[in-house]
Amino acid sequence: MTDISLIDRLLDVIEHDIVPKTEDGVGDGNKLFGAAILRKSDHSLVLAETNNETENPLWHGEVHCLKRFYEMPKAERVDTKDAIFLATHEPCSLCLSAITWTGFDNFYYLFSHEDSRDSFAIPHDLKILKEVFTLEPGGYNAENAYWKSYSLRRLVRDLPEAERNRLEARIKTIADKYDSLSADYQDGKADNDIPLN
Ligand SMILES: [Zn+2]
Repeated sequence: MTDISLIDRLLDVIEHDIVPKTEDGVGDGNKLFGAAILRKSDHSLVLAETNNETENPLWHGEVHCLKRFYEMPKAERVDTKDAIFLATHEPCSLCLSAITWTGFDNFYYLFSHEDSRDSFAIPHDLKILKEVFTLEPGGYNAENAYWKSYSLRRLVRDLPEAERNRLEARIKTIADKYDSLSADYQDGKADNDIPLN
């Protein structure tokens, strides 16, 4: 059964914890991808981060979040098996591996690889999966021995109508915000030196 309160909580974290960081990051020329780590126990936030590829092209939202996580004092961290990993966008091959190597048994995301290509003009996730791993879209194993992944949109699509309509309206508000962040990134990207911008 889908935990609706968790979906609301993850959308809250995107809106209130990730998006403000991403607004700053995009202002500095970075992409709009963000991520967060929450405790499974009470859904409290451990930390939220955003893409920082202008510093290092490996600092995707997810990897940058994990870098900052391991810079925290150990006492303030959570065992990754007791944590939820949230990504605004379906993780790329680099980030799928990073989430795996750091021991999470789950991740949730809002926008799909196809959204990244079609709505956000970032085709690299799907292109790398095809060129390097010979995978078609949807070709990686979304549930495997390491983790199970969840598309928030797909979870919402399967809810009873009233909750589905309410949450789809919430997601539309967030998607509109990301459309404007995307326009800002695309307007400025000729000026950055990110290898795959
Ligand atoms: Zn990535």
